[in-house]
Amino acid sequence: MSNTALALWAHEKAGHGGRDATIAWAKARGVQLSVKDVQTCIAQCETCQLLKRHPYLDQPVGCIWQGITGGEVWQIDCIGPLREHR
Ligand SMILES: [Zn+2]
Repeated sequence: MSNTALALWAHEKAGHGGRDATIAWAKARGVQLSVKDVQTCIAQCETCQLLKRHPYLDQPVGCIWQGITGGEVWQIDCIGPLREHR
């Protein structure tokens, strides 16, 4: 697994948290990620692009993603326990 793929994995598992949240999440699990890799994967993350375009979709990490209209992706991963990230 490349470092970028690892960073993307951690970023998704961290509930699409920001750079610092993703690094902290990985660190808590013994995975050291480089800031550069995390930044790269967040910049390429489709979900985060979507959240940027539709800020009203943003939700606190730890909440189950709830589709508002038909056809939306529901996030069902269980990723607790979680800290406040903002
Ligand atoms: Zn993301």
